Amino acid sequence: MYDQVFYRDLNKEYIVAERAKGIYIYDVDGKKYIDGSGGACVVNIGHSVPEVIKAMHNQAKKVSYVHGSHFTTKAAMQFAERIVEMTPSEDLNRVYFVSGGSEAVETSLKLARQYWDELGEYTKFKVISRWGSYHGTSMGALALGGHTSRRRHFQPLIQHTPHIFPCYCYRCPFGKNKRTCDLECADSLERTIKYEGPDSISAFIAEPVVGATAGAVVPKEGYWARIKEICEKYNILLIADEVMVGIGRTGKNFCIEHWGVVPDIIVTAKGLSGGYTPVGAVIVKQKIHDLIRDKSGQFVHGLTFSQNPLSMAVGSEVLKYIKDHNLVSRSAELGDFFLKKLKELKGLDYVGDVRGLGLFAGIEFVKNKKTKETFNTGIKFSKKVAAEAFRNGLITYPGAGGVDGVKGDHILLCPPYIIEKEEICEMVDILKKSIKKVAKIV
Ligand code: PLP
Repeated sequence: MYDQVFYRDLNKEYIVAERAKGIYIYDVDGKKYIDGSGGACVVNIGHSVPEVIKAMHNQAKKVSYVHGSHFTTKAAMQFAERIVEMTPSEDLNRVYFVSGGSEAVETSLKLARQYWDELGEYTKFKVISRWGSYHGTSMGALALGGHTSRRRHFQPLIQHTPHIFPCYCYRCPFGKNKRTCDLECADSLERTIKYEGPDSISAFIAEPVVGATAGAVVPKEGYWARIKEICEKYNILLIADEVMVGIGRTGKNFCIEHWGVVPDIIVTAKGLSGGYTPVGAVIVKQKIHDLIRDKSGQFVHGLTFSQNPLSMAVGSEVLKYIKDHNLVSRSAELGDFFLKKLKELKGLDYVGDVRGLGLFAGIEFVKNKKTKETFNTGIKFSKKVAAEAFRNGLITYPGAGGVDGVKGDHILLCPPYIIEKEEICEMVDILKKSIKKVAKIV
């Protein structure tokens, strides 16, 4: 068939997906794949859930589109209410809707800046973020991201903002180990704030557990509490990027809850609609919302598809489904089993680290397990593993550059929360077979 789609990988022959049900996707030839990464960590309640399809249909029959400057809808109000119900604090109670993760991050940056501006703190505009992170593909989000390969082509177009090193215990950027660690990575935020000038900093943004760029890197206990303390000390807004890890993925409604920290802003997307429609949300503390309401009365921002009724109805139904089926607790319980099973792979050649939280896990591959030396980038180890697993009927989410922005190989695994234990075992068997096969040819 003549195909005019501009694809992501311009040299790849894409398989045509025909239908999907539960944790499975079927291609046009009827081959079945386990959606072991929920696409890009999106599919959480499974594919083709009848209740969600019905909600989409019902909303389409009523009203599919109104512009956010003209109307609100019952669907939007109900969705916001269900999101707020899930937040870790009563204060986090206003929701700005967008169409995805990058838009949510962009929105949070502008919101933070407008907040300080309206307060008369005109010098506060810089946003500090971390190396080795991902916050999206649009220019503001890309500037905050810390993935060198993804930034390289666009360097002249992006703003240069301060970045600190991540909390990455397997490869501590400060050369520490479990015994000697004193959370230097968190303290480096304070040092950077001082060098940049506290009066110039608007916000600090980070993923509570690093996803796409490093492969489920879980911070050390105490890290987030220290970060929060520093933000409060210097009057800086804390933004948790929960685009990937929010909505139950790590076994809590929002991932940052694992450490008892309440941020000022949470950005989320992906699992917010379980993949049924594009949607994202910026959840803000009441004080931010109220200040803007009482000062200028308008957040100077807006997107044509914000609050589009179809996404609102669908997202709302997805959250209802998660609640009705206790899927967040299921993600926590199954997560322990999942990680235990995945750790069986640690004995294989080239498997350096297996880590994660809830149903969010990463496997980091290394050429030398003792020295943690990485593969040459040309080998594309993680892509090869993902391609082999795909041939064997398992979808994973490969990544590279987690070590220094260029080097490093990992895959992410984040199956739908409805997966069964036997299916997890099948995933691990396929992975084992696929890693062994690739190990033979590199
Ligand atoms: N933030 C994080 C943590 C992400 O993982 C992603 C996407 O992977 C984004 C932001 C950007 O989201 P989107 O691709 O929906 O624009």
